[in-house]
Amino acid sequence: MALFSQTLTIGKLRSGGIITNYHCSSRCRHCLYCCSPSWPKDTMDRETARRAMETILRLGCASVHVGGGEPFLAPQKLLTVLRTAREVGMGVEYVETNASWFVCDQKGTEILHACAKAGLRTLLISISPFHAEFIPFCRVQNLMEACRKAGLHVFPWVDGFRPDLEQLDPHTTHDLQELVDLFGPDYLRRIPRRYWIHYGGRAALFFGRVFGRQSAQAVLDANDRPCSELADTNHFHVDLYGRYIPGLCSGLAVHMADLGRALSEDTYPLLCLLFRKGIRGLFQFAWETHGYRPSRDYLNKCDLCLDIRRHLTLEAGTHYAELHPRTFYEQWWLEP
Ligand code: SF4
Ligand code: SF4
Repeated sequence: MALFSQTLTIGKLRSGGIITNYHCSSRCRHCLYCCSPSWPKDTMDRETARRAMETILRLGCASVHVGGGEPFLAPQKLLTVLRTAREVGMGVEYVETNASWFVCDQKGTEILHACAKAGLRTLLISISPFHAEFIPFCRVQNLMEACRKAGLHVFPWVDGFRPDLEQLDPHTTHDLQELVDLFGPDYLRRIPRRYWIHYGGRAALFFGRVFGRQSAQAVLDANDRPCSELADTNHFHVDLYGRYIPGLCSGLAVHMADLGRALSEDTYPLLCLLFRKGIRGLFQFAWETHGYRPSRDYLNKCDLCLDIRRHLTLEAGTHYAELHPRTFYEQWWLEP
């Protein structure tokens, strides 16, 4: 059982992004980071951006994407991050946006030109049924056109939903039920075949309703492996608080200073436990030490993991620094 004696080291970084803010104009049901308008309007400052990028470069990754939350809610802070990237020699693949902020005025156009001047070449613009619940599609269309005029490439993510949304009034928002009514009762079940979805964060709650849930015991029976995902650096993120998010496990956090060396059990007891013993180890620990009892059924092991971590953070009164930020757990539970 070699895996059970391994220590978790976040070493070479392969591909990832910077989260400049969790605050967002939307509250998408699939959001891995549970972003929403209710988050504090905190943003990444220049010093944190510099430290994060220098660390990412040192660990072998030469370019990142930039996302949120909605980065354009604080355009000057976004520009600071872009300029910092240029200063430290970090490539920026694209900035992600949901287009909600773009209302075709001069200010919006000026922001696009300022981004281009700061070195940005590509804007990823979100297109999905989840975003359409909060953002009129005309904003997406107008932003695409403005990017073309400003000389910015557009990465529509994902373009395959455009025909669906073009059948609806572009000047208003549309809830998922409208799309189900239009395209059939299995519309929601087919979404993951058309769109990359990671079943963590809010997506774990939402797709539990779509695909069904099973008991905690069934989840534990089906998952007897350590969580090796924690060491995966193919899609990492570093947030505005200077925390590295291991794997795609939102709500878990590692200080940037601790990257590149074995994580200490004293500082990261839960991460080390998950890496050695997986969800079964966390469940047993939370049951025996912090009175955790499952109160519902779960989509998968990550849904159960989130529920345990929510209990530790919000109900058991624990203060594990690796469970961060606290707002994530408060927002996760508020299913839209
Ligand atoms: S998926 Fe993007 S637009 Fe939607 S809530 Fe999350 S950060 Fe905001
Ligand atoms: S169970 Fe927890 S630690 Fe393991 S992959 Fe899922 S969210 Fe990450």
